[in-house]
Amino acid sequence: GATIGILGGGQLGRMMASAAAQLGFDVLIYSPEDDPPAGRVAAGALQADWDDADALTEFAAACDVVTLEFENVPVASAEIIERAGKRVLPGAKSLSVSQDRLTEKTFLNAHGIPTAPFRQIDAAGDIPAALAELGGKGVLKTRREGYDGKGQAWVHDAAEADAAWQKIGGAPAILEGAIAFQCEISVLVARSLTGETTSWAPPRNEHENGILSRSTVPSGLARSVEDEARAKAMHLAEALGHVGVLALEFFVLPDGTLLANEFAPRVHNSGHWTPEACQTGQFEQHIRAVAGWPLGDTRRLFDAEMLNLIGDAGLVDPQTLGKNDILTLYGKREARPGRKMGHITRRLAPRKD
Ligand code: ATP
Ligand code: MG
Ligand code: MG
Repeated sequence: GATIGILGGGQLGRMMASAAAQLGFDVLIYSPEDDPPAGRVAAGALQADWDDADALTEFAAACDVVTLEFENVPVASAEIIERAGKRVLPGAKSLSVSQDRLTEKTFLNAHGIPTAPFRQIDAAGDIPAALAELGGKGVLKTRREGYDGKGQAWVHDAAEADAAWQKIGGAPAILEGAIAFQCEISVLVARSLTGETTSWAPPRNEHENGILSRSTVPSGLARSVEDEARAKAMHLAEALGHVGVLALEFFVLPDGTLLANEFAPRVHNSGHWTPEACQTGQFEQHIRAVAGWPLGDTRRLFDAEMLNLIGDAGLVDPQTLGKNDILTLYGKREARPGRKMGHITRRLAPRKD
């Protein structure tokens, strides 16, 4: 059988590895972390840093194709694997564009996908003028590395500029205008090696303390809004030459206007309900794409909700599990505040529309 390498060893890699095993592949994990969650469901795991050229070359030699579950894999690491003769999918463009919020939003706008207005911030002194241009209220976000709302600070007044700059660690940033959205949705799209694209019904996403807490389908939005979001995400995947799953997040304004927020060049938490509620789920689809297989049907069969188990909520007592709760635990050794430990998907009803 063929071997699929996964860069990163977290829960996304774990669920990807399970899907790959189901399809008959052997999976190898590459992770800087010791004993990563994905390693325990894979055929093997190599523990090494992202800049370890020898380890990356050795990993490439053991794999037929390499993919990733972590979007901050350095582009240079992917290039080492490519030089060793193995493809890294989704591809360097998807990685490099998504790793920097300034590049990302510029790319989205250049491809006809509007975002919140934003300004480049290189020093605290850049904030007051940018804030005035953006209407007096905005979010300062580091260009690189932020997730789950980390590396962000709200700014409501020029007097808060220094504190906000300190809070994000004084790193190169963007200031984004505050968006008064009606709700947030995301679109998961998959693109195959031959350029075929599929997408899933967009979930409505709710956050708590900057962390996704619940995704629900159907979103409750008009079909026209959902179709437009799906078309935009498919257009993005094509513009990037992306192979595999990609998630594009949107703010939905009260009039239905869509503003893209960010994309992840990988499977995504807001798509965790897809294996239970759709004909083909995101993990299987991703593996089909990177393996060069035709894509599966993404039709949605159930109304569903996905609830994240964060921190102590991940220490679920199995005795309290509802008979319709489909539980996935990530096998993390300890619960920490804000740490994603697992999720529950509930099929609410067979789809009617
Ligand atoms: P993720 O965990 O999704 O990768 P992240 O840390 O990369 O998150 P964003 O997705 O940019 O950060 O922002 C997190 C959340 O903060 C958004 O889903 C939204 O709820 C809120 N938010 C971000 N930017 C804005 C904005 N410009 N206006 C209003 N709310 C915002
Ligand atoms: Mg993000
Ligand atoms: Mg986000």
